[in-house]
Amino acid sequence: MNKAFDIAIESLASPGATAPAPSTSTSSPAASPHPRHPNAAPGKSFYLETFGCQMNVHDSEKVSGVLLGRGYRAVESPAEADLVLYNTCSIREKAAQKVFARLGDWKTTSQNKIIGVLGCVAQQEGEEIFERAPWVSLVCGSASYRRLPDLVAELESGGRRVTGLDLDTEETFETEITRRDNPFRAYLTIIEGCDYSCAYCVVPLTRGPERSRPSGSILSEVRRLAAAGYTEIQLLGQTVNSYRDPSAPKLNFVDLLYAVAAVPGIRRVRFTTSHPNDFTREIVQAIDSTPALCDHIHLPVQSGSTPILRAMRRTYTREEYLEKIAWIRAARRPISLTTDIIIGFPGETEIDFAGSLSLLDALQCDGVFSFKYSPRPNTPARDMPDAIPEEEKSRRLAILQEHQRLIQIARNDLLVGSQFEVLVDARHAGRDQWAGRTTSNRVVNFTSPRVNLLGEYVQVRIARAGPNCLVGEHLV
Ligand code: SAM
Ligand code: SF4
Repeated sequence: MNKAFDIAIESLASPGATAPAPSTSTSSPAASPHPRHPNAAPGKSFYLETFGCQMNVHDSEKVSGVLLGRGYRAVESPAEADLVLYNTCSIREKAAQKVFARLGDWKTTSQNKIIGVLGCVAQQEGEEIFERAPWVSLVCGSASYRRLPDLVAELESGGRRVTGLDLDTEETFETEITRRDNPFRAYLTIIEGCDYSCAYCVVPLTRGPERSRPSGSILSEVRRLAAAGYTEIQLLGQTVNSYRDPSAPKLNFVDLLYAVAAVPGIRRVRFTTSHPNDFTREIVQAIDSTPALCDHIHLPVQSGSTPILRAMRRTYTREEYLEKIAWIRAARRPISLTTDIIIGFPGETEIDFAGSLSLLDALQCDGVFSFKYSPRPNTPARDMPDAIPEEEKSRRLAILQEHQRLIQIARNDLLVGSQFEVLVDARHAGRDQWAGRTTSNRVVNFTSPRVNLLGEYVQVRIARAGPNCLVGEHLV
């Protein structure tokens, strides 16, 4: 996992894919006929490419559901589609540039097609997208997705340019149908937007203020997913643990975790991303006492230096973050920890950087997503003095990644000989291996004498370990 953000985005952006589905060789347990909307558009097709985080991947599943409900059919290549949509990410500059490169492909060939931009770049650039790419007809940010059916209907009835760019909404994006691309793990957004204001981050500007989804609606969806055969649920939010139930039961995040884990048929519950400020002892106690709550916490720290954390407006110090890690490490059940770190924030000195390296030693994470700081439009950090040159950021990132790689090698070596339950989600035909994840979210590749294991929970003994995965054999 110790890799730069570019790679994560690449892996989500493969042509023809709307999500990193673990395998295309099985059908979704939730695959169900899609009821048609009364004003459906029979015969029309759409292609949707997704960039960015899991929230975007899941938003795309919901957008696909909306379109399927209107009678559209999904196709594998943009050339075949009547409607071509890009669900975009603008967390880093390169990610945003890539979207304009994709749009450029349609400059002379967009006749008879509707081209649309969804997500963070849509929200950030707004109607300027029409200036830069006049062949685009739809621009819609994620806070306006509830208007998508109307926007699509407007285009179908001849509208030339439609936009959904409001941010002042209390609503979350709920759909009658969600086309789920991962057959084993169901994503479920419980909170949208973000009320923090980290100095480097576009999310509050592109996804709007925090809105939690009512607990009753979340729990009914979990029950429906369990009935459809899903056993693993991943609760999503930019700050998932800031969840506050807007409806009468007034569940807090921990109450919701217990309630989701108690739904019959659900064996694994994950949640991401947690914000350190809202991370409580009760979350650790819930994981400690409830086997269905996965023993993995992703808790982005961003820097190991308190002055840099202050400049980033992260609302906690290095010491306060470490105090929360001590709760996790004191749990009876070993809990795997992963984090995010930004390198080269303006003003980051060698001492600050050394603080991030020493924090990695103290944390002993099983994975770190590390990013070079990327200045973003309309964020306070963009105008901060003492920008770090690009080459220096690259140098520090390489040092940090190597530092963390050695930590992961040492940690994973300790697991050789141990046994894990693995939910099998892929097969590597060329290597004659199966792949899956442990409840602690470790990737395990393994051999088995069995012929079809997809979707099964199996016991695997670990024989070898690398920095990013474990290798073992199925205990039949
Ligand atoms: N809400 C989560 C939190 O506060 O920890 C993070 C969500 S953000 C979409 C994912 C990660 O992108 C962040 O944890 C941060 O490390 C990284 N990121 C955000 N803005 C960035 C920027 N301008 N440059 C580089 N990395 C950035
Ligand atoms: Fe961005 Fe900070 Fe909100 Fe996370 S908490 S989404 S980093 S503003």
